[in-house]
Amino acid sequence: MDFSYNQKQLQFQQKAREFIEKEMAPKIEEYDRRSIFAKEAFLKFGEQGFLGVIVPQEFGGLALGTMEYCLLSEELGRLSAGYHHNGIFQTQKMIINHGTREQKNRFLPGLASGKLHAATAISEPAAGSSFAKIKTFARKTKDNYILNGVKSHINDAAEADILNLLARTERGLTIFLLEKGTPGFKIKRKLDPIGLRASPIYKFELKESPIPKENLLGQEGEGLSMFVNTFNFSRLGNASVFLGMAKAAMEEALNFAEAREIGNQNVIDFQGIRWIVAELYTQLEAAELLRNKGATLDETEGDSSSSASMAKLFCGEVAVETIMAAIRITGSHGCYRDKPFERWLRDAKALEIAGGTPEIMKNIVADQILKKERRG
Ligand SMILES: Cc1cc2nc3c(=O)[nH]c(=O)nc-3n(C[C@H](O)[C@H](O)[C@H](O)COP(=O)(O)OP(=O)(O)OC[C@H]3O[C@@H](n4cnc5c(N)ncnc54)[C@H](O)[C@@H]3O)c2cc1C
Repeated sequence: MDFSYNQKQLQFQQKAREFIEKEMAPKIEEYDRRSIFAKEAFLKFGEQGFLGVIVPQEFGGLALGTMEYCLLSEELGRLSAGYHHNGIFQTQKMIINHGTREQKNRFLPGLASGKLHAATAISEPAAGSSFAKIKTFARKTKDNYILNGVKSHINDAAEADILNLLARTERGLTIFLLEKGTPGFKIKRKLDPIGLRASPIYKFELKESPIPKENLLGQEGEGLSMFVNTFNFSRLGNASVFLGMAKAAMEEALNFAEAREIGNQNVIDFQGIRWIVAELYTQLEAAELLRNKGATLDETEGDSSSSASMAKLFCGEVAVETIMAAIRITGSHGCYRDKPFERWLRDAKALEIAGGTPEIMKNIVADQILKKERRG
């Protein structure tokens, strides 16, 4: 397997970095503090084509691959995990893989251009890591499904025009496309999380909410397999966000360590610091290679399950360790809230939980390894 990036991928990444630094970075502190979705910036981001990274060209996208999605996620992560809004890419991926022609025509162009915003609504107050207790129920009528239930911890639920939502039907877990303005949809509370704050989080309820049959995604009872398939892809995006924030934290710390004089040398000249730098960069490179393996498998074999979970787990651990070390290397400089370290650290801790906890990633990896060994 070749894990190197080609010239076009590097140019795409560079273009994304320049846009994010110029158009999105200036307001991040305010949006993170107030927990606000940067709508204007995302519209511009969409106009540049970035939100259509994986969307086929016939629906207005760039038709690039998982690797480009990862590089884009990395650049967003450098700024803020909250600016990643993975619900957009998850919803696109679900519609691309499982949507009808009509659903693709209706939703993909808007999702690729930023005119439509999307979110993922899986979790409930009593169901996070396990779906066994998902209570949201969809009752079938002649033309609609009528939904009742409560969803919690949902990024961008109030801002989204469309939510991919997991509910139970007579035939099992099923995914629906819930559109803004659906009767009975009510935000119960805006939550106040430690991280991912630029992607506001809500608890909402559905009371006798009609969803037209045309908004059923895939088949009734296929929700779990559709979810697993898409989440392998989006966990590679999560892993990339971790890489972005960890690399940015190290760069910031090294700039400081190279400039800061202590006695007759600079911080970077202390052997104790140089060893920390060497260890962290070794881990970062290993983490990046693991992410790249997952992205390559996702593109070539459509199955990255084990690597995607390993990548989310390992990149998360490396990011937390790297950001903590970066704060240490920068001394008092890194301890103030006007520096990005605390935002990266809060985002990293929240992102370890969102999209599946480290324990759940380990369970998936162990299942895959043990299955393989038994097969062999
Ligand atoms: C910032 C943030 C954003 C989020 N955004 C979204 C969103 O947009 N959409 C959405 O649907 N959800 C979202 N979530 C919810 C997230 O997916 C869940 O919080 C996560 O899956 C964990 O579920 P839980 O919080 O119910 O924890 P629990 O499932 O109650 O887990 C509690 C603890 O038990 C451990 N545990 C659970 N099961 C096992 C097991 N089998 N083996 C070992 N340990 C186990 C967990 O790892 C954890 O340490 C978000 C969460 C956060 C924090």
